[in-house]
Amino acid sequence: MTTTFTTEDLITAAKSIVKDEKCPNCADLACPGWETMPSSFNQDELNLIGTLKSENEESWDEYHPHGTQIWSANAPIAPNFHPYNKCDLYQCQKCTQMYLRYTEYGGYYVDQRIRLVTPELIDGASHS
Ligand SMILES: [Zn+2]
Repeated sequence: MTTTFTTEDLITAAKSIVKDEKCPNCADLACPGWETMPSSFNQDELNLIGTLKSENEESWDEYHPHGTQIWSANAPIAPNFHPYNKCDLYQCQKCTQMYLRYTEYGGYYVDQRIRLVTPELIDGASHS
């Protein structure tokens, strides 16, 4: 069974990230904001460590209090909002970098997306 992470769990987990130590595989992956998973990236090094999916998985509201948008590199990582509420959390077993991943289902495509976990951007805001 996959562990469900709350915002607090995510913040705690993110403290284990060794910021400046990226293995070559992760160093090649530039995804401070959401990116389509590059086919060159070796996903074998990633361990699934939990999920942010919760009862509000169906919500499509986004959280951008400071004028960011979904693709912004400085957009908040807000687990209670789209697309974070559809994400699984992965960690590189080589270098501790953490990633969020979800699958975008368009009309004619399926897009695997990945974003680096930046601890400073995690925001526990909830729906009012
Ligand atoms: Zn790595």
